[in-house]
Amino acid sequence: MQTFLESKPRTESIWRSVILFGRNVASYKFALGKSLLELADKETNFVSMEDLAEPFSRHISEHLKINDNQGTSQSSRFLNKARDYNKGDCSKSDLLSTTVSLGFNNVIDAFHVVGGGDVPKRFFMDERTERKGIVITDNLLKLKEHFQFSNFSHEVEARWRLVETAWSLKISPQLLEVRHDLGDNILFTETDLSRRINITSSRDSLNGYQKGKCFYCRKGIRIEKSDDGEIVDVDHFFPHTLLTELPEVNINGVWNLVLACQECNRGTGGKFERIPKIQFLERLHARNEYLINSHHPLRETIINQTGKDTPKRIKFLQQMDQKAIDIIPTRWSPPEAHEG
Ligand SMILES: [Zn+2]
Repeated sequence: MQTFLESKPRTESIWRSVILFGRNVASYKFALGKSLLELADKETNFVSMEDLAEPFSRHISEHLKINDNQGTSQSSRFLNKARDYNKGDCSKSDLLSTTVSLGFNNVIDAFHVVGGGDVPKRFFMDERTERKGIVITDNLLKLKEHFQFSNFSHEVEARWRLVETAWSLKISPQLLEVRHDLGDNILFTETDLSRRINITSSRDSLNGYQKGKCFYCRKGIRIEKSDDGEIVDVDHFFPHTLLTELPEVNINGVWNLVLACQECNRGTGGKFERIPKIQFLERLHARNEYLINSHHPLRETIINQTGKDTPKRIKFLQQMDQKAIDIIPTRWSPPEAHEG
């Protein structure tokens, strides 16, 4: 009789799950991930905490220069030390000794925890009690043989940038996520397609361009909840229902989110699940270009989601419009448009 075999995750999948999934309260996991990849490249086995402190604190310091949001907690003595180091207020050896004593709190223990449990393979063994260090395992060294080894460090970096950006904007990292298809050779992330991500927190970020006006009709909108309960809707330009039809597209990405008044989104004559008329596609393009050119924190996210240069981004939106209208063949524009 034919029986099922239990599928086993591949080592590289386990590595990616460590980096890509799980909740982050600080960026230490990314710093440790990048440090481990460096150590694997040098084929090191035993690593003392002092030796680990160097790459670890270097990555943290570099990231603090890009984005000061490296954790969700208000203060961290270790991060403050790294900030001092960046300002030239403390020496490298001072930074390293603080890293050894404070920098690894939790991260060594938490690194292999994904979804509430330990992953089936470890990339290092914790021997801090016995030998004041960690031992790199064959699993990590095996990653080096993988043809995508050079990608792993870029993946950690990309994920890190995304999480710190989300922290600084106070929005869900999933909104900034890029979904690559397998054909791209870069498996990046798979979000749960059936779950509607809570997008309310993105209001403030999106309003910068719209300046308090509905994306479609230009009527004044409220970002804050008012007494009458009227608050602006976050609308998927290309409807959220396309998610199941077009799994390769990140419908929940910020590139596709606009602020709309309730009337336009779901009032009489509202948009609901129709495709906006072509002038609104132009407006969406202008909005995305605005965010990119003004060096908004979402700049890189929108570039990642829609294309590296303007022609590519136009092509992306054009193709998106074609795919969408093939699935939902009805156009919409607001019954009444305001000036502005
Ligand atoms: Zn409107």
